[in-house]
Amino acid sequence: MAGLPYIVGNWKMNGTRAMLNEARAIDRSAQRFPKVQVGLAPPSTLIFRMRDAVELIGVGGQDCHAKENGAYTGDVSAPMLKDAGADFTIVGHSERREYHGESDADVNAKAQAALSAGLAVILCVGETEAQRDAGDAEGVVTAQLEGSCPIADGAPEKLSVAYEPVWAIGTGRVPSVADVAAMHKAIRAKLVAIYGDAGAEVRILYGGSVKADNAAELLAVPDVGGALVGGASLTAESFLAIVGAA
Ligand code: PGA
Repeated sequence: MAGLPYIVGNWKMNGTRAMLNEARAIDRSAQRFPKVQVGLAPPSTLIFRMRDAVELIGVGGQDCHAKENGAYTGDVSAPMLKDAGADFTIVGHSERREYHGESDADVNAKAQAALSAGLAVILCVGETEAQRDAGDAEGVVTAQLEGSCPIADGAPEKLSVAYEPVWAIGTGRVPSVADVAAMHKAIRAKLVAIYGDAGAEVRILYGGSVKADNAAELLAVPDVGGALVGGASLTAESFLAIVGAA
């Protein structure tokens, strides 16, 4: 599997300028962990300032529009994220899929746009609780990959996949290590089916209620190459404890 463990904080719709102090503290401490790659995805209003405030860590968006520009009120394009100083963007987060009705085709177009703009991509997939209870979890996730993985400039080298079971996000519930291992294995097989040998190098992050006290166990699972962290990324203290566990 490729590269260093990758620990990414997703601030979601949290954070005004005052929270840049947390980013500065995370960045200062990142030098203590040279064997971990760290990124933060603040709300887009903070990307430009965060880029100036940090040196070591990556800065990213949480979503982008599939078009470069145009009459799309309220949206932000991938070239705009890049211009603001972003290194990467998340696409296909389950909150986007659920609250904004994003389909796999939408996520695919966004991922392609991000790669074309020179951004790395973290593409999120994950099943709902009902889908897991019905025994469909792996089928749902591999179908999401089939429909949303980009085939463009920079894919798959600049692609990471984040497996985030919807029922584990913000709930404090985490799948068993065996279930995480089985899903990451299925994702790996699908990535190899899509990209050939290069699919073996794509980093697969786990996300959903990652905390300091479960991070080491989750990150030790085969094919878990990092973590996408929501709630626990909002303070330097809780996020750095996860970085330290990696
Ligand atoms: P959580 O969120 O860590 O708060 O569960 C993870 C995510 O949605 O990326």
